[in-house]
Amino acid sequence: MAISRREQFISDALSSASDDCIIWPFAVRKSSGYGAHSLSRQHAKKNIDAHRYVCILAHGSPLDEAHQAAHRCGNKLCVNPSHLYWADILTNMADAKAHGTLRGGGCGRQKLFDREIAEILNSGDSLLKLGKRFGMDPAYIGKLKRKHLAGANG
Ligand SMILES: [Zn+2]
Repeated sequence: MAISRREQFISDALSSASDDCIIWPFAVRKSSGYGAHSLSRQHAKKNIDAHRYVCILAHGSPLDEAHQAAHRCGNKLCVNPSHLYWADILTNMADAKAHGTLRGGGCGRQKLFDREIAEILNSGDSLLKLGKRFGMDPAYIGKLKRKHLAGANG
């Protein structure tokens, strides 16, 4: 089976000795801003963030679901393995804040679009997953859900 351009790019990135950011030149997920890669599993395709995939190949699988592939450089599209590391979600949030990629900050000042709020309320995903997708504190998303549920009942 022929190797895809994405697989080729990833394999080049893995063998690169460069200290510079290696920017993912392919599709980007609009919701997260991360590079979009997909793995072929027979007939099904499994979507995975490009940087997460590179982190797995370079550093092994994460310890658990709460571990995210984080960037030392703060560049969401960077897939340089030496810039990637496994961070637990709280460390990653702190990094994102430091790099200014986390929205809002401070109580009640985080802004979401109505569309995003609807998606959060209708989603069965865990707060952790939603927090990761929207770049927000999972505790804040929990608060938002409770607030809207209370509003719907009263
Ligand atoms: Zn980088």
